[in-house]
Amino acid sequence: MVALLRAGRPRLRDHQPLLTSGYPIDLHTHSIASDGALTPTELIARAAERGVRIQALADHDTLLGVAEAVAEGERRGVRVIPATELNTESEWGDVHILAYFVDPKDDALEERLRWLRENRGRRIELMVEKLNALGYAVSLDRVREIAQGGSLGRPHLAQALFESGHVPTYDSAFDTLISKDSPAYVSRVGLAPLEAVALARTHGGVPSLAHPGTVVDVERLLPQLVPAGLVGMECYYASHTPAFTARCLRLSVRYGLVPTGGSDFHGRGEHGVDLGGVFVPPECIAALETHQARR
Ligand SMILES: [Zn+2]
Ligand SMILES: [Zn+2]
Repeated sequence: MVALLRAGRPRLRDHQPLLTSGYPIDLHTHSIASDGALTPTELIARAAERGVRIQALADHDTLLGVAEAVAEGERRGVRVIPATELNTESEWGDVHILAYFVDPKDDALEERLRWLRENRGRRIELMVEKLNALGYAVSLDRVREIAQGGSLGRPHLAQALFESGHVPTYDSAFDTLISKDSPAYVSRVGLAPLEAVALARTHGGVPSLAHPGTVVDVERLLPQLVPAGLVGMECYYASHTPAFTARCLRLSVRYGLVPTGGSDFHGRGEHGVDLGGVFVPPECIAALETHQARR
């Protein structure tokens, strides 16, 4: 649509702001520092071109991409908020905690994150072993190559399965082999949801519950996470229906949580939207900063 509009009105491009379909705030993005496809520089450049002005880099269990993203952000006029997404393992389903405003130079935090990354790596090794035992030949070296030194994750494994022809599409690797209850799945050894919130708070972070639609019973989990220091909830997310977004917003009012949002962009078409593809209200930034100031 945008391309068509641009093609039809080429002369306007020199005189009008760049026509983009992105919103200016995106508080949930990933780079190759974890399981995204773009370098932090490429990610921020793409975001800038789409009109994003405030962006959180929230790689899983790492802040190693932040410095590069901040540098590119300074060149491009994008404010980069340092963040990390902490996945957890519990009976509550996929509880992911986004920790905003953490310090990439916090050595004690980096030590905890390194422990989490090593666990991620061991889990992927075990999944490769399982796949090989099941007759899907995948090499750990190839998975590491795809990760390009980033924190290993299932998207890298899915890519390896897809390119070796074991599955017809990237997504079908998840659907048939490596999602929970699939034959090659190995559960994570890691933080419980409360521990993730506590880890963020201990290190001066501002925690928000990511994509609450993947939580088994968010109404029952929130009364535990809020007293532990949860500050926000990702009410704005591409796969949420309007009804679910409204439900999240009601819950955030009830628990005094800041509604956050983002694309969860990884760069391979996951989650269906590009950078800046989800509306996030501008006032949420100041609200998160208030909590940062209180720490
Ligand atoms: Zn997540
Ligand atoms: Zn994410």
